[in-house]
Amino acid sequence: MPRSADDAAIEDVDGRPLDCPCGAGLYAECCGPIHAGVVAAPTAERLMRSRFSAFALGLLYYLRRSWHPDTRPASLDLDDGIVWRRLQIVDTRAGGVDDVEGEVEFRASLRGPDGVGLMHERSRFARVDGLWVYVDGDQLD
Ligand SMILES: [Zn+2]
Repeated sequence: MPRSADDAAIEDVDGRPLDCPCGAGLYAECCGPIHAGVVAAPTAERLMRSRFSAFALGLLYYLRRSWHPDTRPASLDLDDGIVWRRLQIVDTRAGGVDDVEGEVEFRASLRGPDGVGLMHERSRFARVDGLWVYVDGDQLD
């Protein structure tokens, strides 16, 4: 579904967004290098942010790659009717550069066919072969 003009992001000549969807800076300096595999997310929160941006940008390959192999869905479809708008990190536990597991609680605002909504989840992350991956999460609210 084509996005309407009012929520079209400002993009560069290659169609990549200038501002990172996760809200932490320029895409080319934020989640872009992580999506491209140039750098690894150093913390669970950074991985969480990169996954939000991947949802916003429809990067299925990255969502699969950053999902724990034991919990990764066999097939993954993104709902074209959902526009991911904003990410707010509410709380983190562990998930640092020296940790092997962690949790991130976040709120993600979205707009779907029925209007605006909010996804509130506490997600679990772990390292596999040294890289942070998403394990699973509990829906809150
Ligand atoms: Zn980002």
